Amino acid sequence: QKQIWSTLKNEQSISKDGIQVELAANIGSPDDVRAVLENGGEGIGLYRTEFLFMGKSTLPSEDEQYKAYKTVLEAMNGKPVIVRTLDIGGDKEIDYLQLPEEMNPFLGFRAIRFCLENEHIFRPQLRALLRASVHGNLKIMFPMVAALEEFRQAKGILLEEKNALQDEGVIVSPSIEVGIMVEIPSTAVLAKQFAKEVDFFSIGTNDLIQYTMAADRMNERVAYLYQPYHPAILNLVHQVIEAAHNEGKWVGMCGEMAEDPLAIPLLLGLGLDEFSMSASSILPARSQIRDLSKADMEIVAHDALAMGTAEEVVSLIKSKLK
Ligand code: PEP
Ligand code: MG
Repeated sequence: QKQIWSTLKNEQSISKDGIQVELAANIGSPDDVRAVLENGGEGIGLYRTEFLFMGKSTLPSEDEQYKAYKTVLEAMNGKPVIVRTLDIGGDKEIDYLQLPEEMNPFLGFRAIRFCLENEHIFRPQLRALLRASVHGNLKIMFPMVAALEEFRQAKGILLEEKNALQDEGVIVSPSIEVGIMVEIPSTAVLAKQFAKEVDFFSIGTNDLIQYTMAADRMNERVAYLYQPYHPAILNLVHQVIEAAHNEGKWVGMCGEMAEDPLAIPLLLGLGLDEFSMSASSILPARSQIRDLSKADMEIVAHDALAMGTAEEVVSLIKSKLK
């Protein structure tokens, strides 16, 4: 099996009926890029920058960040690289920031909420990204956006830093796309309005599932409710993709659902443009997509959207995949 997959390393991710998608990878550090290229990754769909901030005793400097972003952009050699700004809180703690304990950390002061109130941390990260942008195909993504104002404010700060750098004579890429994670139900529900203002969406199902089902992703007792194939999740994904496509924008997915062989046919059918996953899943996913007809999967996905339970959806996919 491994042997067959490796022949697909330089092939396109294209369905049997000729629809092309992008298979990208999730990374946590520049060291991870090698595996992405070895596995035929067509881009980085999610660079989790929190690891630059974790496991140390102080904030990383702007220069330290610049070097990390530049390394990734250069190694990817013009392929798209989506860097997500700092997403701390919830399950990701940073000791030296001494954030107060919260009753519900997953519903608390984290990610973009934290960055917008801590501009002394947010601005250097944006500056490092803008400076690095000339070294490749950078896209910037904000995490945990729940309201349009958060996106507008974050983008405003980004533009301020861009102007400031240009006034200093620093060259910044003119074509950086700016998008958001869709991982909070309010944002999925309002995708139509968001789609007019963002350049792209990346659906974060790890969080979107927990917030939609109100089932903590870390809690075993409620794990039975954490259902990627739940029609409620599929309908949200569908709505986000439709909204984006109507505005000529593209949609990726960087939650674990994007590499799940049972979910891939549905996501292809729903029209997902980019799938971002662990490097080791890319070749198996490419092999699977090349065997699927998008037109057939559109019908399966359409039927799944009308179902009432995850169980029904799973039996539907299994019967179609035979
Ligand atoms: C997600 O929520 O799906 C996601 C990709 O982000 P993280 O797992 O880092 O919260
Ligand atoms: Mg998330």
